Amino acid sequence: MTISGMTPTAKLLQQLVRIPSVNPEGNPGVANPGEQACAEFIAKFLRQAGANVQLQPVFKNRPNVIGVFKPKGKINTRLLLAPHTDTVSVLGMSIDPFAAKVKGGKLYGRGASDTKGPMAAMLQAVKEFFVSDTFKNSGLEITFVGLMGEEAGNYGAHAWAKKCPAYDLAIIGEPTDFKIVHAHKGCAWLKFSTKGRAVHASTPANGRNAINAMLPVLAYVETILSKKISSFTHRQLGASTIVATVIHGGSKTNIIPDHCEIEVDLRFTPNLTVNKVLGFIRQDLKQAGLDATVSVISSSSALHTDANHQLIKKILPHSKGLTTAPWFCDAAIFGLRGIPSVALGPGSIKQAHTADEFIKLADLEKGKDGYLQILRALAVR
Ligand SMILES: [Zn+2]
Repeated sequence: MTISGMTPTAKLLQQLVRIPSVNPEGNPGVANPGEQACAEFIAKFLRQAGANVQLQPVFKNRPNVIGVFKPKGKINTRLLLAPHTDTVSVLGMSIDPFAAKVKGGKLYGRGASDTKGPMAAMLQAVKEFFVSDTFKNSGLEITFVGLMGEEAGNYGAHAWAKKCPAYDLAIIGEPTDFKIVHAHKGCAWLKFSTKGRAVHASTPANGRNAINAMLPVLAYVETILSKKISSFTHRQLGASTIVATVIHGGSKTNIIPDHCEIEVDLRFTPNLTVNKVLGFIRQDLKQAGLDATVSVISSSSALHTDANHQLIKKILPHSKGLTTAPWFCDAAIFGLRGIPSVALGPGSIKQAHTADEFIKLADLEKGKDGYLQILRALAVR
């Protein structure tokens, strides 16, 4: 502890929270959204800590920031540490989002928990580890990446996953109570559409009713398809699910509707893919003679990293154990590339995206120590 009672990790977090980096999609609630300033701050920190640093432009003023820490020895393990630099909107917050006030052992502000807390803990741990003999004499290469755009679209993770080396392990910084999240379901939103022919409602026989055409499609989704989907299960995550959640159709009471759409929410286990589901649907619709089309509105993949992987076993004793999550994060993007990926960090997801977001400073410091132990464990062969 320093005289002011703030550790270097807490001071770093305070600086990070004071740099707004709100994701610009939707209504960010600030005049200057985007990750540029945050990425530049991290670049400077990484350079001073001894890394080779570059910015990867993804969108205008929205780069990834990458710092590589090289050991003196021959590289035998490549580690990726990757929190995201963007935060969710500040709309509806009950505190000053960027004051980074400390009160009662907690630091308050947008991103304090999700995910500038885990990011500060990672950065400080790497900085301290870099000057140790354990690191210098090891074969562990550490790449820190501050990923832009996690809160909408995961663009930063996709951009880096496309060109990054095949890491032996990726640790994504998220507030997980320092438990290792090694599996979560994927999520996709699908849209079914039926077309009709609009005529005056007084002569329905002359038109084609798109709402009526949707009825058997809706029944199919809720019965046959739902049953098929639920047969895909995972020991910890449970069964895959699909459910219709939105319906639109028609334009006026006296017009036969010429269009109808339903939107469905699909949550799938790692043994199921969106393409597989689309395959089922297209075949079933054809077989039943139903004239409907299906399209993907959005999709994010499932995560499943083997809990018995040797590097997971190596870091496990320095964490609070293994777990799964109901949410989605950048880990799945690197998992898709075949990189063993997990999410791990201090702080609780319960405080993420909240009106008075905070992280407990004691947890933050334990997180920094935890990451440090993990780095040591990975450096020792
Ligand atoms: Zn997050």
